[in-house]
Amino acid sequence: MTDHAHAQIAAGTLAVVATPIGNLGDISLRAIETLKSVDVILCEDTRHSKRLLDHYQVHAVTTSYGAHNLKSKLIWVLEQLRLGKRLALISDAGTPGISDPGTMLVSAALEAGFTVLTVPGPAAFVPALVLSGLRTDKFVFEGFLPHKKGRQTRLKVLALEPRTIVLYESVHRIQKTLGELRDYLGDRRVAVCRELTKIHEEIVRGTLSDAIEHFQKHEPRGEFVVVVAGTDDRVQNSENE
Ligand code: SAM
Repeated sequence: MTDHAHAQIAAGTLAVVATPIGNLGDISLRAIETLKSVDVILCEDTRHSKRLLDHYQVHAVTTSYGAHNLKSKLIWVLEQLRLGKRLALISDAGTPGISDPGTMLVSAALEAGFTVLTVPGPAAFVPALVLSGLRTDKFVFEGFLPHKKGRQTRLKVLALEPRTIVLYESVHRIQKTLGELRDYLGDRRVAVCRELTKIHEEIVRGTLSDAIEHFQKHEPRGEFVVVVAGTDDRVQNSENE
């Protein structure tokens, strides 16, 4: 183990720093120290991250990156690294690069030969998987389903998937997605994990029909991770008997 005080990063390094997915307490000492030690923090949304940074008295300069400015920001980031600046990358929640725009910055920095390091921490799919009660020995992370093109194809592929399936979903599509999962995969076991680590955390476990019925009665709010049993679900049940 390395002393956590070893948070100082070398010049010309990009640190990918995980931040909480809801509960402000879920951040590592090394994450805070790293954020305090860098020259610039790249945020998905600077206003969103301000609350976290203020809470931990992190006063580094922040700048935004996202779909709207990714290309120009990429050039700027590589230039800053060339100048020997220490940069940290954070996202609105969890681990940058997991279903958010961080991936391109990481790939570009690596391709240009710069050092990229991570300060690991929360990602929404891990607590969801653990709390689902479904198989965790083998699982597949599917992220967001495509909204239109390719959606049916993914659902057909997932219908044959033996491992537990983990999906991200927003409040706008949760009911549609649960309905389509039942149509394509059958009435499988599911855990719909809402607002993880937040005050209104809720895990709805049962069949897809149970979850659909639940959200017909209770208007869905917040952010969701959907964990669905794979085709091997029965195998584990019989093994456990
Ligand atoms: N980078 C993040 C991570 O490490 O998990 C994911 C970012 S992605 C843009 C946002 C999605 O993550 C949400 O739509 C939701 O599916 C999931 N998510 C993030 N925080 C969550 C939470 N507290 N509870 C449930 N789902 C969450």
